[in-house]
Amino acid sequence: MLENVVEFFRNLPAKNCTECGETINEQHECYGSKCDSCMDPAKH
Ligand SMILES: [Zn+2]
Repeated sequence: MLENVVEFFRNLPAKNCTECGETINEQHECYGSKCDSCMDPAKH
């Protein structure tokens, strides 16, 4: 069971920011298709 889940995430393609092309961490996927910096530049 657990192995299937791990395999599922391992096969997911890495998401890249549509702005700068930076790889987006999985934890940021709820933000859409941009990385943390491009999504909210004022924060940094
Ligand atoms: Zn970016």
